[in-house]
Amino acid sequence: MSRHLYKYLREEVFPTPFCPGCGHGILLQAILRAIDELSTSGHLDFTKMVFVSGIGCGAWIPSPHFKADTLHTLHGRAIAYATGVCLTRPDLKVVVISGDGDLAAIGGNHLIHAARRNLPLVVICANNSIYGMTGGQVSPTTPEGCLTETTPFGNEERPFDLCRLVKSCEADYVSRWTVFHTKPLIKAIVKALTSKGFSFIDVISPCVTQFGRRNRLFSIYDYFQEIKKVVISYEKAKVMGKGDLKGKIIIGEYD
Ligand code: SF4
Repeated sequence: MSRHLYKYLREEVFPTPFCPGCGHGILLQAILRAIDELSTSGHLDFTKMVFVSGIGCGAWIPSPHFKADTLHTLHGRAIAYATGVCLTRPDLKVVVISGDGDLAAIGGNHLIHAARRNLPLVVICANNSIYGMTGGQVSPTTPEGCLTETTPFGNEERPFDLCRLVKSCEADYVSRWTVFHTKPLIKAIVKALTSKGFSFIDVISPCVTQFGRRNRLFSIYDYFQEIKKVVISYEKAKVMGKGDLKGKIIIGEYD
């Protein structure tokens, strides 16, 4: 972690609760870099930000790490709480950071309704394709065929494409990146933080302990190699057929 970002962190919570190799640490730093860029240029006031999260490893990114107002809420209810904050305190910048299980499974309804209302919220999904904290169960974003605690013979269900789902609700800003695409990821967070309506960023973040261990991706390097094979830009994906896109991770801004 860069020294200049320490001012945004509660240092007393370190060492971090994340497992070694977890992508959530990289995402945490990317969020703080985007905040720092906007704060330094006078476009954002960190003291006027509220971070809301649900339950799970992704929820630990803002709470307890960020030295800010943070709400660590019930499972799947982060967006409901955030909606309350943004309606009662429109002067504050409200940012939801939570996992795919929290935002897309139990909280899925809140996600689509906040998007269709185009509420002034920034939602960052720390998407590790599994329920990491609660033992590695299948989640709505687990790719087909992957092994989890509850799909020991491989997941038979199609995963949600969260970006397509949120974009179909006509949210203002939607994009997907992986934690290995740090520069565009930081730029995307800057854009989301400066957008007026609902902004959603899906961030593919490795869970080496639950997803990786079961699917023979034992280190962040293994993950990187795997992601390199399947990642494709949104622009390229536009001209590809449905069959060719099976199993691909489409990154970029959704228009
Ligand atoms: S269980 Fe997975 S997501 Fe949770 S901290 Fe460990 S590596 Fe990260």
